[in-house]
Amino acid sequence: MSGIHLSGVSHRYRAKGQEVHALDGIELELPASSFTAVIGASGCGKSTLLRLLADLEHPTEGTVTVHGDAPASLRKRGRIGVAFQDASLLPWRDVRRNIALTLQASGRKPSREAIDRLIALVGLTGFERSLPGQLSGGMRQRVAIARALAIEPDLLLLDEPFGALDELLRTSMNAELQRIWLRHRHTTVMVTHSISEAVFLADQVVVMSPRPGRVTAVVHVPFERPRAPDLLRSTEFHSLCDELSELLAAPASAGAVP
Ligand code: ADP
Ligand code: MG
Repeated sequence: MSGIHLSGVSHRYRAKGQEVHALDGIELELPASSFTAVIGASGCGKSTLLRLLADLEHPTEGTVTVHGDAPASLRKRGRIGVAFQDASLLPWRDVRRNIALTLQASGRKPSREAIDRLIALVGLTGFERSLPGQLSGGMRQRVAIARALAIEPDLLLLDEPFGALDELLRTSMNAELQRIWLRHRHTTVMVTHSISEAVFLADQVVVMSPRPGRVTAVVHVPFERPRAPDLLRSTEFHSLCDELSELLAAPASAGAVP
């Protein structure tokens, strides 16, 4: 199955008569059933890239396909699961009903067993009836991820899902996300500003540079799965993180790979 394919993709926003060149000449080829992390300075177009994949924006130029289809086709069939930074749960719906929401929105009737399995998968058994306001930030993020997974997506898009969490919680959420991901290996693209999170979770890391947003490198992550927390302390892990931070610091014109 072909994965994610972006060819000659540029994107411009128009705001108050001004044009913002958010993405320029993006060429990307990402395998199906793989986990991709996207890193880059603020404003380099990471969220725009995700929004193109989610069919929330359309490229000004170029083409985007996912598993051989246009994102619009996947979205219409309810095949895209999305979790963004602010968990955006409905405060008046309990955990179970928040997770059921995406299923209902895509016209499917959620089965209670399926939802309870997801709740168990994200480690929230016992909190089915809790309201978002009664949960910690990490728990709310897990509800958002469960909600994105509920539709059994072909494409899972995560935009800085753990951005608001402290380092310790983030590390345990990363382990959790890896465990969940290994169950189904949905084709996943995750934006993060944490290099170590990217290296811990991803099969490949896409490095972007700003003004206009460009891909400067795609770095393969060779570590076997499942990856244990020990990996975070290994020399190999640190040297890959160093390599990526150097790529991030490099001026866009140097290091421009594709
Ligand atoms: P990132 O997620 O990497 O921080 P974004 O994709 O959000 O970057 O934004 C890329 C560029 O596009 C930025 O300069 C941002 O200000 C601009 N931008 C993003 N969304 C809009 C919008 N809806 N209208 C106008 N400009 C936008
Ligand atoms: Mg963003």
